[in-house]
Parts: sequence; C-alpha cells; structure tokens
Amino acid sequence: MSNPSLLILPGDGIGQEVMAEVRRVIDWFGAKRDMQFDVSEDLVGGAAYDKHGTPLHDDTMAKAQEVDAVLLGAVGGPAYDDLDFSVKPERGLLRLRKEMDLFANLRPAQCFDALSDFSSLKQELVAGLDIMIVRELTSGVYFGEPRGIHMEDNMRVGINTQRYTEAEIERGARAAFDMAMKRGKKLCSMEKANVMESGILWRDVVTEVHADYPEVELSHMYADNGAMQLVRAPKQFDVIYTDNLFGDILSDCAAMLTGSLGMLPSASLGAPMENGRPKAMYEPVHGSAPDIMGQGKANPIACILSFAMALRYSFDQGEEATRLESAIEKVLSDGVRTGDLLSDEHSTAVSTSGMTDAILTALDASL
Ligand code: NAD
Repeated sequence: MSNPSLLILPGDGIGQEVMAEVRRVIDWFGAKRDMQFDVSEDLVGGAAYDKHGTPLHDDTMAKAQEVDAVLLGAVGGPAYDDLDFSVKPERGLLRLRKEMDLFANLRPAQCFDALSDFSSLKQELVAGLDIMIVRELTSGVYFGEPRGIHMEDNMRVGINTQRYTEAEIERGARAAFDMAMKRGKKLCSMEKANVMESGILWRDVVTEVHADYPEVELSHMYADNGAMQLVRAPKQFDVIYTDNLFGDILSDCAAMLTGSLGMLPSASLGAPMENGRPKAMYEPVHGSAPDIMGQGKANPIACILSFAMALRYSFDQGEEATRLESAIEKVLSDGVRTGDLLSDEHSTAVSTSGMTDAILTALDASL
C-alpha cells in the first residue's frame, strides 16, 4: 500500500516559519514511529502570486485534489494589500476550500491546563475544556442569492439570503455526528428555529440524521442562548453543529476561551474520497502575523496541532495524535513559552524552533 500523501502549502509570513517546524515533527514520526508520508510542498497566497501572478496555480489546485490531506500555513501580508481583489492572497485559500468542497469546518476549543490562567473566564470554568465546533462552511447567508446593495425608494438596501438545502444540512450533520462518535457522543445543534425557517429545517434534518446515530445524545439550542452558555458553562458541550454565520461567531468566541491565537488549529473536511478518507485541509487559525515575521517569535503550536488533527481525522492515527498533543501539554506544563503566551518567573522563554526542540524532546520521552 502506498504511503499517505500530504501537500504542504506554507504560504506567507510566519506561515513559512511554523511550517518548517511541522516538517521537523513529521520527520520525527518518520524516524521514530516508522510513519512515512509522501510529502510535497508548493506555493499559495502571496508567495504564489510572486512566482505565478496568481495566489493559487492550477497545478497546485490539481495536486490538492489528489492528496490525502493539505496542510496550510497562512496567507497574506502588507505587500499584497493593494492587489486587485481577484488575485489577493486570500483568494488562493478560498479557491482551495471551494474547489475541494470542504463543507465542514472543525474548530476545537481545548484548554491546556498550563494555560488556563490565560482565559478571560474564571480558571475553573475553562480548566480541562475540550469542545469541538463543526461549522457548515460552504452555504448559508455568505453564499445565498439574492445578495447585493441596490436602490429602493431612493434608499440603499443591503440584502443577503440565508439559504440551506436539506442535503447541505445533512452532510454537515453527518460529519458532526461522526465527530461526536469519535469523542464524547454528545452533540448540540444550534440554530434560530424560533425566528428563521432555515432554522426549522435545520432542526428537522439534524433530528432525522440522528436516527442513524442512536448512541449520540442530541440536543438543540437557539444560537443566541448557545453564545451565552459558551461563556457561562462551556464544559457542558462536547460537539456543537451550527451553520456558517453562527459558526463563524461561535467558533471565534469558543476558541478565545482558551487563550492565544498561536495555539488554535482547525480542519476543513469534504466528502469521502475513493479511499474512504474525507478530502481535508488543516491549518492554524492565525494569519501571517507580519508584525513578528522573521524574528523567531511565532508560536508553532497551532500549526503542529493542525498536523495532529490530520493524524487523527485523515490518517486514522488517533493514538499518535494523542501522543503529540500530550507532548505539547507536557512542554506547556514545564513552563516553556513563546512570547505570545503568558509567562512568569517559572517559565522559560523560547524561540519558534526552541518550542519545537522542547516538543521533540517530550516526544522522545514518550517512547
Ligand atoms: P494574525 O493572526 O496574522 O495576527 C494577529 C496577532 O496575533 C498579531 O499580533 C500576531 O503577531 C499574533 N499572532 C498570530 N499568530 C501568532 C503565532 N503563531 N504566534 C505568536 N503570535 C501570533 O492576524 P492579522 O494581523 O489580522 O492579519 C495579518 C495577515 O494575515 C493579513 O494579511 C490577513 O489577511 C492574513 N490572515 C490570514 C489568515 C489565513 O491565512 N488563514 C487568517 C487571518 C489573517
């Protein structure tokens, strides 16, 4: 059987720096766990624009369609701010999401014990927090027609349309139920069925899909109440499934319960390929951080945790993903910190590569 394939797209700014660290982690798994990946690397974002005049070359797009998983760093930067909208670095990212049809966006909100002081919530509310938001990513109000700004009675009117087909709700729901089965078997679906017809349909379809997942405990919540509950008692949740707009807001809110942008991974999954694996792209939530690029200050953990998600969700290597996450937990509890993380007199300040050194040492110790 051939090795699983991975396309690495470092992108711009600190995307390139944190991805170099991920490659060291991949090499560790090759050398110490005999896990071989066919790794290829290509350009995206500003880096692709500089070489090809487009933020994503067609050849790169074709490669992304063929591999088992794509791992992306970050795109963008001040050098590209004045480019035409059609060739801005972000267009490369959006094209990947659209053409790979990545409809389920997975955003974990996990609080490492060593960082529980970091949250704006009380420590006891977030210590041990581990929730996963599954956001529908390719439909809803960001895409629905009609949309635009036009004149009506001498006044400008802005229009966007919330539109969901049952097939769109259903495929995201299946991804969310599958996720719940791999975790704590609890799923909360969030919509506004009290005031939106699309919310009524959402609730109906999720309830229908539940019949195929009898082991999962399903609950429904209005999204505004969901926002309140996320900051009141976040540990009541395991997996949350919600639409594109509510998911955009709720996943940012949940993620920040846990601290720094430099710690947050994400995954976007599509339909299963011939080999049964879902199409998938993994990426840190943060951007290219031009303010710290080239200074060895970037925290590589968000990108390394994105690779851990790839191990779990694309490569069926849940135990190895846990090994990597535990190594990160250990390093943090030993007080190893990049500049974005809270430090005190007991902590050790490290550079981007220094953080990876510590993680690799902890991985060695796990053997
Ligand atoms: P950003 O996420 O790049 O940075 C926000 C702040 O967080 C900065 O102060 C930065 O130094 C810090 N930060 C981010 N990641 C960090 C890390 N790993 N370690 C330590 N500190 C970190 O967001 P921004 O400044 O709004 O955007 C910068 C550029 O990135 C823009 O061009 C934007 O369009 C792009 N962007 C890209 C993505 C993506 O590729 N997915 C996401 C967001 C922003």
